[in-house]
Amino acid sequence: MSIQRSLSIFERAKAVIPGGVNSPVRACRSVGADPLFIAQGDGARITDVDGNTYIDLIGSWGPLILGHSHPAILDTIAEAMSQGTTFGAPTEIEVRFAETIRAAYPSMQMVRALSSGTEATMSALRLARGFTGRAKIIKTDGGYHGHADCLLVSAGSGAATLGIPGSAGVPEGAARDTIVVPYNDLASVEAAFTTHGADIAAIIIEPIAGNMGLVAPQPGYLEGLRSITQKHGALLIFDEVITGFRAGFGGAQEKYGITPDLTCLGKIVGGGLPAAAFGGRADIMQKLAPLGPVYQAGTLSGNPLAMAAGLAVIEILARPGTYDRLEALGKRLGDGLLAAATEAGIPSCLNRVGSVMTLFFTAGPVTDYASAKSSDTNRFGKFFRNMRDRGVFLPPSQFEAMFVSLAHTDDDIDQVIAAARASLLAS
Ligand SMILES: *Cc1c(COP(=O)(O)O)cnc(C)c1O
Repeated sequence: MSIQRSLSIFERAKAVIPGGVNSPVRACRSVGADPLFIAQGDGARITDVDGNTYIDLIGSWGPLILGHSHPAILDTIAEAMSQGTTFGAPTEIEVRFAETIRAAYPSMQMVRALSSGTEATMSALRLARGFTGRAKIIKTDGGYHGHADCLLVSAGSGAATLGIPGSAGVPEGAARDTIVVPYNDLASVEAAFTTHGADIAAIIIEPIAGNMGLVAPQPGYLEGLRSITQKHGALLIFDEVITGFRAGFGGAQEKYGITPDLTCLGKIVGGGLPAAAFGGRADIMQKLAPLGPVYQAGTLSGNPLAMAAGLAVIEILARPGTYDRLEALGKRLGDGLLAAATEAGIPSCLNRVGSVMTLFFTAGPVTDYASAKSSDTNRFGKFFRNMRDRGVFLPPSQFEAMFVSLAHTDDDIDQVIAAARASLLAS
């Protein structure tokens, strides 16, 4: 298999784009590979510029729950496009989008659309701070919520620590008000509220962590976060950018029966175009401009093409049996991958919720970022490269999740498992 054209485009890219990519993980550096440049996608498969075809388990990091180039979605976008692409004035489809989101997520009494998950979490936090008049926020170690300054913060030492900047360019001031706690650890949240309770505006959390590899919440964890925040007058923000319309039609909040104050959605709700949303309790959302004092805006917010694409995906997901099918496909893949690793005698554990999963190369259990980091990332790099050579496109990091789509067939899954068996035995 030649990737000569990808390599030569990558050389050009490196001269004009930092690292040759527009989002760092795409560079495949942590797995010791060069990136492939993609020419097209169709269903469960993508084809690179050299003409190699791969079974895709990234799905653009979550949005493509129906697979690539779904005909109904492409038709919808084309039809919307024929009316124009953007107006900077309200369109009816934005109202339909908000109504559809609210119907699926009753906690989102009011909804505002924007263009990326980063904008959704950044705006939700500003709103939480504006609403409560408090400055501090709590996030989890290894929790990813986009790249706003106050969220690019890593844990210091200890259980509940004031954050330190997790990126150059984030001033200490932006990190100082972020408290970092381990995922699945209620005691450290209690401790943070004991010390800083009156200053904490909100906890922001992925109800199912997806960016340290996939880690599910332990029983009682989300309930505990709900009751602690309620007790202290802080807001609970669910970052459902991955889990929204993925963990189930109503997301993780429906699956676990928890009502957050604010919710962030992204990825699937844009149907493969740039759209995201945040929303929640009406009394909080009404603090947003133009009704209230918390400013938030966007030139392309509620873009009619993106709204149309997102609505078309949601309409298909609403059909009966969708999530049962995703669960069946996910289980088939998860069980097969774990069996292949076990057969090869490799210490591993598989975390999965429905159609999202991570095979960790550690005996586990993986319940938080610290335990995820005990994985053998060299082995993962080898696994990634072996799988790509065998025609399977995995997320290029041990700390990311694989995404199965409705376009995958049982046979596709079995091909992935066969490739995994051969790759793991070879390593
Ligand atoms: C992808 C992601 C984001 C950021 O969304 P972008 O559209 O990449 O800005 C935020 N939160 C979570 C949980 C995500 O997975």
